[in-house]
Amino acid sequence: MPTRRMPHWSVRVRILAAILVVTAVAMVTAGASAYFVQRERILDEIDDRLNTSVEAVRLVVTGSDPAGGVDSQTTAPEASGFSTTRSAIEAVLARVLPSRNESSLGLLNGVPTFVSAVPTDFQLEDDPAFIVRVTSETSDGSIRLGTALTTVGDLRYIAVPIDVAGTPDAGLYVTAYDIEAELADMNAAFRTYAMIAAVSLLAIGLVGWFVAGRLLRPIRQVSAAASRITASDLSGRIPVSGNDDVSALTSTVNDMLERLDRSITTQHQLLSDVRHELKTPLTIVRGHLELMNPDDPAEVRQTVPLLLDELDRMTGLVDEIAALADSQEGVLQLKWVDVDDFSDQVFAKASAIGNHDWRLAESATIVASLDPVRITQAWLQLADNAAKYSPPGSPIALGSRLPDPHTLEFFVTDRGPGIPEGMEERIFERFGRVDARRGIQGSGLGLPIVSAIARAHGGRVTLQTSPSGSRFAIVVPVNQEVK
Ligand code: ADP
Repeated sequence: MPTRRMPHWSVRVRILAAILVVTAVAMVTAGASAYFVQRERILDEIDDRLNTSVEAVRLVVTGSDPAGGVDSQTTAPEASGFSTTRSAIEAVLARVLPSRNESSLGLLNGVPTFVSAVPTDFQLEDDPAFIVRVTSETSDGSIRLGTALTTVGDLRYIAVPIDVAGTPDAGLYVTAYDIEAELADMNAAFRTYAMIAAVSLLAIGLVGWFVAGRLLRPIRQVSAAASRITASDLSGRIPVSGNDDVSALTSTVNDMLERLDRSITTQHQLLSDVRHELKTPLTIVRGHLELMNPDDPAEVRQTVPLLLDELDRMTGLVDEIAALADSQEGVLQLKWVDVDDFSDQVFAKASAIGNHDWRLAESATIVASLDPVRITQAWLQLADNAAKYSPPGSPIALGSRLPDPHTLEFFVTDRGPGIPEGMEERIFERFGRVDARRGIQGSGLGLPIVSAIARAHGGRVTLQTSPSGSRFAIVVPVNQEVK
């Protein structure tokens, strides 16, 4: 399957990117929504103030509060207290004063005629196009509230026609707020917010970078240590510190290294032992061949069986080495085995070895999970040794028993010479043999094989020995719960 090429980002960068993206999105969302809510509020406030101006204008020109029932927001006031439109507008401009960011103008017949009594930041009459626009918008005599982009700024304005009945002049009062100027304070506040947010993001980035680095340091150490440990040298271990996921990972990697190390060391030892053991028969064969005179039939007849015997021994050795390697692999084919029947079968096979008084001492009545082929191999090996090393005709007992509910034992008892003191451990080592044992042939691999099989089952081999006999037993744990 084709793999997609991903940019090679470290976990540290990815963690940091995730934190920064989430934080930035949260900050922008919070800032933008607050900004727009606030902006709407300010714009509404401008409209309120413009409408209040209309009320003020109405008060000036009519001398009274708006009449109930009349739509005071759209209907132009009737200037009842003035004789001319000019004087009405003049009075309005003199009395309704613009506030901050506001500018007012009085028009007579579309011509800017009066400005307010107080100075303003901007002058509406500076943009003739705006004047034309508001004049035409209010030509129908209604009040107009609107927004205009003018040369003096973005304006929110209200235009109120002022007419004195019976006069031909068309009066217009216009007042407008500079929207940008009104929003300026808020914009400044949000610029500060944006700056603080950017600095915070930077700070979060820096702190995040160091924290992520700190948290991931053990993983980097594990990786560095693991890359130092090569296949040829598995002796290194990664230091475990703390008690968290990373230390658990480290322990797992260490356990794996331990198993690999043990397995490879075992293989190396086996190889060197094998090399050492095969050297002797090879030297013997070579020596005989070199010394033998091929033209002397009598000598050939004498040497060939000797060499064949030595080659047979080597073949046996190679077979046993293979068996030992298999046992050391520790791969078992576990089955539920009725130990009672199983003991009968192995006893039948052992008694075929002959030349001894074979007995089945006892049988455990249990169904246990074990590899019957391997246990048979190990048990028969013990029986074979007993037969090999004890005097002909002497009794040999086989048996299986449960010394306690969690332990199963397959044993062989003989009346042989026993194992000399100090050799009890040596005989379980590869090629470990008790020398000068009446010239009995053997490879010294039998007991290591038994031992490996017992260990693969989670058990061990026990030995009780005295000059009047030995008792070897394969002891394995049993799981009593499942039967
Ligand atoms: P091998 O029998 O091929 O020599 P083993 O590993 O089976 O190798 O046995 C190692 C040594 O332990 C033997 O050489 C023998 O001296 C001793 N041994 C094993 N079983 C017995 C036994 N039942 N009685 C006396 N000695 C034994």
